[in-house]
Amino acid sequence: MELVLPEEVRDACRLLNRHRKQAFVVGGGIRDLVLGMQPQDWDLATDARPREVERIFGGAGFRVVPTGVKYGTVTVYMNDLPLEITTFRVESNYSDFRRPSQVNFVADVKADLGRRDFTINALAYDPLRYHLCDPYHGMRDLIKEIIRAVGDAEERFSEDPLRMLRAVRFAAELGFSIDEKTKHAIIRNAELLNRISAERIRDELNRLLLAPHFQRGLEYLLEFGLLFVIFPELKEGWLFSQYHPSHRYTVLAHTMEAMRYTPPILKVRLAVLLHDVAKPRCFSRGDDGRGHFYGHALAGAEMAEQIMRRLHYSKRLIRDVVVLVREHMLALEMGPAAQRRLVARVGKELLPHLLSVRRADILAHSLKQVVRSLDEYDVFIGRLEKTLAEKIPLVMRDLAVSGRDIMEATAVPPGPLVGKILRKLWEEVLDDPHCNSREYLLERAKRILERDDAGRGAG
Ligand code: ATP
Ligand code: MG
Repeated sequence: MELVLPEEVRDACRLLNRHRKQAFVVGGGIRDLVLGMQPQDWDLATDARPREVERIFGGAGFRVVPTGVKYGTVTVYMNDLPLEITTFRVESNYSDFRRPSQVNFVADVKADLGRRDFTINALAYDPLRYHLCDPYHGMRDLIKEIIRAVGDAEERFSEDPLRMLRAVRFAAELGFSIDEKTKHAIIRNAELLNRISAERIRDELNRLLLAPHFQRGLEYLLEFGLLFVIFPELKEGWLFSQYHPSHRYTVLAHTMEAMRYTPPILKVRLAVLLHDVAKPRCFSRGDDGRGHFYGHALAGAEMAEQIMRRLHYSKRLIRDVVVLVREHMLALEMGPAAQRRLVARVGKELLPHLLSVRRADILAHSLKQVVRSLDEYDVFIGRLEKTLAEKIPLVMRDLAVSGRDIMEATAVPPGPLVGKILRKLWEEVLDDPHCNSREYLLERAKRILERDDAGRGAG
């Protein structure tokens, strides 16, 4: 079997062979090549020890970085192409569920393939002899489009529980199914994912959420119980009826349905996943029996913040998702002043993402409601475009007066009062953009101050 690989990769294998060392391209690179996809990185496996690899490539004038010598890995730069070269090894004792506590180097590529997670990742290819080493029938599974654990699935997942999430992530990236035994082993061991660090879970989750078949990935997460290990809060909405004619799904089913309509943007997908997380906690029923969820957007924003902190997301991403969840109920019938205030709160950059969240949410309602809301949505967008085109001051910076102007005109000393006055003026301007003139605003500032004094005197 002949696979076309970059000449640099073949050169690296040639160099190792010249030193009487074996050399195979392994892992995801071969999988992707067979599938006709562009490999993201190149992994080589060899029986040469890390120090020998350093010597061989260093001696031939290539840049060598000892990235993980303890685990047998050296990165070699062939021209500009980085290759990860790892000595054949087996692992044991995954005591901390992160890295094997012991790595033993072995002489045989087959043993090395046996430690890998899935059959489709346990392929080794010799690009000089055009030979594929495939002891676990990875080719067969690639053709059948199946993710199957190498060896005993149960054992492999208890060694490293992250593999369960990787299985789902690969299914979402490749559009593959997960083999029955592998599936059952995940269901039985899902709770073990709790032992994995937040960062590793987060990174896999991000890739899953942005994968072409992310919908399938989410369904697997739910089916296997992994979703509720990562997001125990979402379990509250599972099978939770909404008792409302505009809904045809339970809370979590609605969320899953809404995900279908999201663009592949991480903050949007996270926001939609979490937008109704607080609904069960905010549930009440009216006299007519209808369900209500007053305050769920605000409560959801708080929960989303906690959840994302727990998963060690960046401050910036958390901030954006929190705003998206908090504002996700935006009323489509709002008038121009409310729209201006919305834009001021959300910011112009985040606004398109908020609209994506809103749209996805709308599309996951009852059909009658969808038709009605989509019409309203179009009207809303039309009006919003006009609002944005008006070039009115949408951030406080655009006010015709500054804090300094206020201090000079009113003799208020620097302090929180200045900010308070500015905010009041800004709200007026958002209500009526014609108010944004220097003379008018300074006059208003004085009025506000008088009222403030009067208020305090009376209090
Ligand atoms: P991608 O790069 O697209 O994520 P990949 O299969 O190359 O896919 P890597 O994380 O780059 O994944 O790992 C390279 C190879 O190392 C994998 O193909 C697999 O053989 C092995 N591997 C990676 N992580 C694990 C793990 N947790 N358990 C067992 N084997 C693993
Ligand atoms: Mg890789």
